[in-house]
Amino acid sequence: MTIRRFTNENFQEAELELSASGMRWIESVLSERFGHMWRLARYEEGIELRLRGANGSILFDTECSAFAVIGTSELPYSSWDAENEGLEAVLGKALPAPGVSQMPSPLMEKRNGDHVIHYDIIGLIYWMFARIEEIGRKDLDAHDRFPATSSHAYKHGYLERPIIDEWFHVLGQVIQRQWPSIVLKNHSFDVKVSHDVDRPSRSGFLTPKQLSRAIGYHAIKKNDFRSALNTLWVRMNSRKRLHPSDPFNTFDWIMDFSEEQGLRSAFYFIVSNNDAHDADYRMDHPAIRRLMHKINQRGHEIGLHPSYVTYDKPDILAREADYLRRICAKEDIKLNGLGGRMHYLRWCHPITMMAWERAGMSYDSSLGYADSAGFRCGTCFEYPGFDPVSQEALSLRIRPLIAMECSVIDSGYMGLGNGAEALKKFVSLKNTCRALGGTFTLLWHNSNIFGNENLYKEVVIA
Ligand SMILES: [Zn+2]
Repeated sequence: MTIRRFTNENFQEAELELSASGMRWIESVLSERFGHMWRLARYEEGIELRLRGANGSILFDTECSAFAVIGTSELPYSSWDAENEGLEAVLGKALPAPGVSQMPSPLMEKRNGDHVIHYDIIGLIYWMFARIEEIGRKDLDAHDRFPATSSHAYKHGYLERPIIDEWFHVLGQVIQRQWPSIVLKNHSFDVKVSHDVDRPSRSGFLTPKQLSRAIGYHAIKKNDFRSALNTLWVRMNSRKRLHPSDPFNTFDWIMDFSEEQGLRSAFYFIVSNNDAHDADYRMDHPAIRRLMHKINQRGHEIGLHPSYVTYDKPDILAREADYLRRICAKEDIKLNGLGGRMHYLRWCHPITMMAWERAGMSYDSSLGYADSAGFRCGTCFEYPGFDPVSQEALSLRIRPLIAMECSVIDSGYMGLGNGAEALKKFVSLKNTCRALGGTFTLLWHNSNIFGNENLYKEVVIA
């Protein structure tokens, strides 16, 4: 199976209209969210939503064609006040409404036993969840990533709003008005912590040349002889296990704290070294095998961190997944499915997603922006993947990433440092997920815990 890199020129038309199979996929999303069985169908004016075994429907009579246009963030934008129409906005704020320049008033009407909504919520779900905006983009950063700053959400100031979840909250209320007797599914807030294992050791795997450079850096540039000695000592004593005084060896600390908090940590490993951006360790190193066993024995998760080049190379990604599966089988580590996240959050949509699907992965948790935390997919809920090009529903689950520690802390990104301002940002995002009953998915590298222990703890406990 070869997967092309899609550019706008590859398409006769730069539009990917929601097909019948796409509607089946959105029905499954609705069932996951609300429970019950739903039916979407086109009618003369737009799309109707029916509940199986019940009369009447909810009609979306204003189809927004902009939601099918790929590779652009130049959609109009408006917002809508739910309270004005007697509905509750879960975050108590006007709802962002991409795709239209002015929202009709009233937005909701009752008509002949149906409810009519004059905004294309179904199209919005498609546009956001299938990441239509990102397809074929050329305005990428130094790592070929679509940056937050180019996105419609960032430009219109709603990246920190899970707008699909907010609209689902409104739709749920309309559903209750239309079919008062049904009980909608309840969701409870959850936290998922994961750790990309880019560097399990600060100096344990350095080559002699890298080692002398690292010692020189600490001793001469930083005038820190203690760190210089530690670098050498750790390098000499990491043959069989990660050294206890290695500042990047925070695995036990992370697992202790997760267990205390009733959480299961996920550790995503890089299994090959194709590029200078990749890891400096090998999976067959005794210290790494030992670490994998420990993670497994303590009931935490082992996952894949596909190497730097794989984001548009499905064959290499699949080979890496198979390699990790083989290692685990050999070591008698039972995997219950294999998930993970792209190294550097590199993502070329939908090529990378299809690579995960073809490699038989169970979930991906890459979809957050490196340069800004927030809701890249407009949601804090996991959802089934969908390929907008082939209009095919996938078995891959998309688990959106809400915050990566360096996105918030580092000066190249949001630059909030590791103090009170950063804590406030993390907690605000977390509380937003909590209000929606979604999942706060947090990435914190094992190599970035040392020196940030308190911040990490406070974010997880908050
Ligand atoms: Zn990484």
